[in-house]
Amino acid sequence: MHGKMMGTSLTITEIMRFADRLYQDTEVISITTDEGVHRSTYGKVFKRSNQVAHALLHLGVQPGDRVATLAWNDHRHMELYYGISCSGAVLHTINPRLFPEQLVYIINHAEDRIIFLDPMFLPLMETLADKLPSVKAYVVLTGGEKMPDRKLSPIHCYESLLSDQDLTYEWPELDETTASALCYTSGTTGNPKGVLYDHRSTVLHAYAACMPNVLGLSHDDVVLPVVPMFHVNAWGTPYACPIAGAKLVLPGPKMADGESLHALIEGEGVTIALGVPTVWFALLAYLKESGKAVKTLNRTIVGGSACPVSMMEEFEEQHSVYTHHAWGMTEMSPLGSVNRLLPGMGSLNASERNEVRAKQGRAPFGVDMKIVDDDSNELPQDGVAFGDLKVRGWWVADGYFRQDDNSDTHDGDGWFSTGDVATIDQYGYLNITDRTKDVIKSGGEWISSIELENLAVAHPDVAEAAVIGIKHEKWGERPLLVIVATEGVVPDETGILSLFKGKVSDWCIPDSITQVDEIPHTATGKISKKTLREQFANYSFG
Ligand code: ADP
Repeated sequence: MHGKMMGTSLTITEIMRFADRLYQDTEVISITTDEGVHRSTYGKVFKRSNQVAHALLHLGVQPGDRVATLAWNDHRHMELYYGISCSGAVLHTINPRLFPEQLVYIINHAEDRIIFLDPMFLPLMETLADKLPSVKAYVVLTGGEKMPDRKLSPIHCYESLLSDQDLTYEWPELDETTASALCYTSGTTGNPKGVLYDHRSTVLHAYAACMPNVLGLSHDDVVLPVVPMFHVNAWGTPYACPIAGAKLVLPGPKMADGESLHALIEGEGVTIALGVPTVWFALLAYLKESGKAVKTLNRTIVGGSACPVSMMEEFEEQHSVYTHHAWGMTEMSPLGSVNRLLPGMGSLNASERNEVRAKQGRAPFGVDMKIVDDDSNELPQDGVAFGDLKVRGWWVADGYFRQDDNSDTHDGDGWFSTGDVATIDQYGYLNITDRTKDVIKSGGEWISSIELENLAVAHPDVAEAAVIGIKHEKWGERPLLVIVATEGVVPDETGILSLFKGKVSDWCIPDSITQVDEIPHTATGKISKKTLREQFANYSFG
């Protein structure tokens, strides 16, 4: 028997309609690439999304067509998020940090029809355009007077294109499983793979993100996503903030610039900021150097790679900012877990508390997780057993775009293999020990590179750390600690190694430390262990 409730589709259009009705004056502040700080509101952003939808029709875009963006976080990108998806087309957010050959691959694979791009990415696109047969037009995200010299054709100016369009649009009533957005994961092997989100998964993910035990957003909040809108939808904040009615502060190209982030936080009264650890290293260094404070900031949500406890402590002790560690991935829209202490945990002492907080947290309602051994047998959730982490849920991908066979990544019961190795404790807290490809196997035992890296960066001489496995005749592999030293410091290697004593088993302590000027990163800002392993392929412990 069916219930007698309304079957209204879960669509992104409903988020837009809701915020346009109830939070139309709530601000959306951006740093733009062409005109500095820009002040807008949900009401204005969504009016202009109507104009985007008309412009897409004018450019010949059909439902289901992929429309790409190559842009930083700002109001224009937000207008495109809604204008493209709500008109029934697919928003393909492109990561400009990908290698040129990867950009060509994904644009051709997605068969993007139009590319909307920030002016600073024009030179890059000019070098690639003749390899992109599906692209029918380029639109530069700027105003007429700032329109740069152009070699691409046909090319339009965003503001001129919008100015002729009507401010109202008859939005189609979409089926909730209509594809809404596409994001490619960089992937550690092979070509990038496209994750194709739909309206339903996006709404459910955004709904969950607002919940108190997840991001806990409300209309009293001012949210600063320092995570790019070109990678995993800025962790869903462009959808969750209008649902919560939270003011949105978009940092444009100033993602890793401590001074600009501080100015935005103080100037706009930011209460919650989200980002990867690298971003917060930059902000904390700036605050230390300048002696400045972040008075309004209450919480940071840190994920994308492991957040060291030393960072949480610095935020809390120096700036009264509480850090929630979070974990997720492109295939999960991305939220998979967020760390919040359970009620009974208030009585833990500082070190017990830190032990829990270092973990990546618990899954929200909507995500199931389990760990399995090599034969897919489920392992106990006791905080000790570790194995491959599998997930399933409403906002988890069940395959990749244009890839019919998902048997590489999904089992017969629909569980997705994350490629991460983890433990889950009796309270449901997830602890990521490594990516499957990065675990170090020494004498048959596994060593967690993440745990060692977190301990290493707590030393004042270490600015960044990575641990990789080096081939070893007796043990198979042994850990090598690669560090970038704090500026102007000759690192005290013995002191750094002594940090590990008593914190990990003796046999897990790295055999050696080596210093480099720079640690290589992937396009999504993670340490590229693959490149590092290639770099140290001939290393021997001597
Ligand atoms: P890409 O491979 O394109 O960088 P993602 O952004 O989807 O893709 O990265 C997801 C991966 O990032 C996860 O599978 C996990 O390995 C890592 N990750 C994300 N958050 C954390 C975290 N808090 N701690 C450790 N690893 C994390």
